[in-house]
Amino acid sequence: MPQVMDRLSQALPAIRDGAESVDANAEFPTASVQALAESGLLGLTLPTEVGGMGGSPLDLVDAVSGVAAACGSTSMVYLMHLSASAVISAAPPGDAAETLHGLADGSLLSTLAFSERGSRSHFWAPVSQAERTANGTVTLGADKSWVTSASHADLYVASARAPESTGATDTNLYLVPQAADGVTVAGRFDGLGLRGNDSAPVRLDVEVPEDARVGDDGSGFGLMMQVVLPWFSLGNAAVSLGLARSALERAIEHVSSTGLEHLGTRLADLPTIRAYLAKAFTDLVAHEALLRETARRVAEPDDGTMLAVLATKAGCNEAALRITDTAMRVAGGAGFSKQVGIDRPYRDARAGGVMAPTADALFEFTGRALCGLELFA
Ligand SMILES: Cc1cc2nc3c(=O)[nH]c(=O)nc-3n(C[C@H](O)[C@H](O)[C@H](O)COP(=O)(O)OP(=O)(O)OC[C@H]3O[C@@H](n4cnc5c(N)ncnc54)[C@H](O)[C@@H]3O)c2cc1C
Repeated sequence: MPQVMDRLSQALPAIRDGAESVDANAEFPTASVQALAESGLLGLTLPTEVGGMGGSPLDLVDAVSGVAAACGSTSMVYLMHLSASAVISAAPPGDAAETLHGLADGSLLSTLAFSERGSRSHFWAPVSQAERTANGTVTLGADKSWVTSASHADLYVASARAPESTGATDTNLYLVPQAADGVTVAGRFDGLGLRGNDSAPVRLDVEVPEDARVGDDGSGFGLMMQVVLPWFSLGNAAVSLGLARSALERAIEHVSSTGLEHLGTRLADLPTIRAYLAKAFTDLVAHEALLRETARRVAEPDDGTMLAVLATKAGCNEAALRITDTAMRVAGGAGFSKQVGIDRPYRDARAGGVMAPTADALFEFTGRALCGLELFA
């Protein structure tokens, strides 16, 4: 049984220490990722046979939300590593034993290079095409629009249409070393939030061996849906709720410790403020419970699990928008400035819902599923 909380408390001081400067300077959280590696948490969901912790979906939720409450940027870097590791482990390319050990012990950082300029948030439908060469290799040419940890990850899991592809979702995934010839980080991330997560555009013009493919020929879409989507969606929802909890706690601390001297009262003595906080807290605990229940269902899937995963990501993303709004509102001008520290989780929490599958796309998928329509018609 992995001791996630013990390991988290080992890593959190370094993550908290770096968070402000990561945000202020849009710098990659190198020390925080190192702390996660040293605590063993980069191998959280990998099997124990390769040195991982063999953690469950619920462990992922606990770890990612705990990291998010301390530093949103670090939590996104962490989540992308866990999501990429999960698919590499589920369908290891070639002889992947050394790679899996590296991913587990933190000597290798991984990420997903799915989104493309041409198909935008529809990550399941890359427009780039893998081509077979005469000497048994495969070439990939792609404009990846966002790759978290673009300049810092050692390994990308990159999508492309399979050679001889018969349609947009006839895809393959390939393991591409960041140091390979033809990998160009084509810009610098300068975002509203998650400012240190280094989600830069990347141009790929690479040649990889056939056995760099993750899974069988044409299995990319299936792996995205069956492996990446559940882990990523749970983790993305956990980022949203970790940030929401952190904003709410800061707001409560502020209204409890700040007063109106001329009246001899605290902000917390205002019934409107208490009501706002109570509603936001209710929203938070309801979504935390939903997320934990969905994590349980991912561990023991049933017919309704996929629908629950889709709805849970969207629901938690939206809840985080509401809760961080409330935190900002009750903290007044002090919240709007950087004094109270709510601005960072407020800005960071805006990312979850625009990350694919976006909250709006998920509502559309959920609606289609409820009405018995094909999801990808
Ligand atoms: C911080 C951050 C980190 C990221 N990291 C990665 C990464 O590591 N790897 C990676 O592959 N990608 C990553 N992404 C990309 C992300 O997953 C999305 O692809 C990207 O945010 C989409 O932005 P866009 O401007 O292309 O959206 P668009 O596709 O242009 O969407 C615009 C609007 O249309 C809506 N929309 C689109 N399709 C539908 C639909 N079917 N139904 C309803 N509404 C719809 C969207 O919800 C959105 O409101 C990251 C994004 C962010 C913000």
